[in-house]
Amino acid sequence: MSAKKKTEQSLTAPLSTLLRLPQGPVTMAELDPAAIPGYPGQGKKDAAQRTEALGAELSELQERLFAAGRNDPTSAPSVLVVLQGMDTSGKGGVVRHAMGLVDPQGVALASFKAPTAEERRHHYLWRIRKVLPEAGKIGVFDRSHYEDVLVVRVDQLVPMEVWEKRYDEINRFEQRLVDSGTTLIKCMLNVSFEEQKKRLLARLDDASKYWKYNPSDVDARSKWPAYQEAYAAVLERCNTDAAPWHVIPADRKWYRNWAVAELLRETLAGMNLGWPNADYDVAVERQRVVES
Ligand code: AMP
Ligand code: MG
Repeated sequence: MSAKKKTEQSLTAPLSTLLRLPQGPVTMAELDPAAIPGYPGQGKKDAAQRTEALGAELSELQERLFAAGRNDPTSAPSVLVVLQGMDTSGKGGVVRHAMGLVDPQGVALASFKAPTAEERRHHYLWRIRKVLPEAGKIGVFDRSHYEDVLVVRVDQLVPMEVWEKRYDEINRFEQRLVDSGTTLIKCMLNVSFEEQKKRLLARLDDASKYWKYNPSDVDARSKWPAYQEAYAAVLERCNTDAAPWHVIPADRKWYRNWAVAELLRETLAGMNLGWPNADYDVAVERQRVVES
């Protein structure tokens, strides 16, 4: 057996199955940020190349999705990748290395920062609804509505009675999204406390990374246990059949990027997207072009 065959056979179950968080109580300490479940290759050595290699299939699948959206803008499916994780967990890296593998025309990226004055005047889902992916598109959320039960809970930006109701509300919101034809891929990028420290220091040791550093990152870091508790609540209470959570070990950047690209590939492949039929007579049109 060739080496290539051997490594490809070692992805024994779909990655989505391996990374899908089982429903039930969540203990963050049991989720290993350095694990590499399902990685079929040798490691860092071949990961970038393996991730790149997913590009060809991803591109075709994405084009099928896009074509479906063109063909039927009201009921074609869409995909929404939700990226959550602590600072330095690599949300930006995933956007660049995994989402960057497909045609940017088919991707709609939205990054959620602290809400603006206008956004604060509306319900927290208002800004989310405005940027949901249209039919045929792959939406990518760099942070999301989950911030409204993460930073908002940890920093007590609203009273407990208010954030407490949001878990169920988010589940209903996501269920409606799924019912309307959007497949959600929710990814929690799980970085360790130690690895975060290294990455923050790396940002301060390199002038080309200063822009990535924000003094408030250390404030959030100092509340690590509270964030872990808030993440556990999200992973436990919003891990529905309609929109399950995947926990992506994120201490190894190469694994993280490959894993999200592979999850996207599996999701798109599972949608069994054909090419839309022509809504004109192909033979007639062909003849017209020939004669033109
Ligand atoms: P970054 O993703 O590093 O650009 O940082 C964005 C910042 O916006 C983070 O500190 C988030 O915690 C913050 N943020 C995002 N959404 C919300 C929200 N709904 N309420 C308060 N802060 C938020
Ligand atoms: Mg940041």
